[in-house]
Amino acid sequence: MLLIPCPFCGPRNESEFAHGGPVRARRPDPDAVSDAAWVEYLTVTPNPQGPVQEHWWHVRGCGTWLTLWRDTTSHDIVKGPDDA
Ligand SMILES: [Zn+2]
Repeated sequence: MLLIPCPFCGPRNESEFAHGGPVRARRPDPDAVSDAAWVEYLTVTPNPQGPVQEHWWHVRGCGTWLTLWRDTTSHDIVKGPDDA
């Protein structure tokens, strides 16, 4: 089980959180990109191997959203929300 460091509640069980997905590139202007690039942005979720920056929502706790780095191969949190 993953222990997620909430900046307000401290280390909490993964079951208290909802995964918000990876941090993605900024939303492109659909009128400024090709149809293929727009469809790719809407439908392709990045799934890299290794450290990934992700959003997590402490939905069964304080309700805050936080961003951390998790290694997708080891499931370890390599950089928490308070780490610079
Ligand atoms: Zn919290």
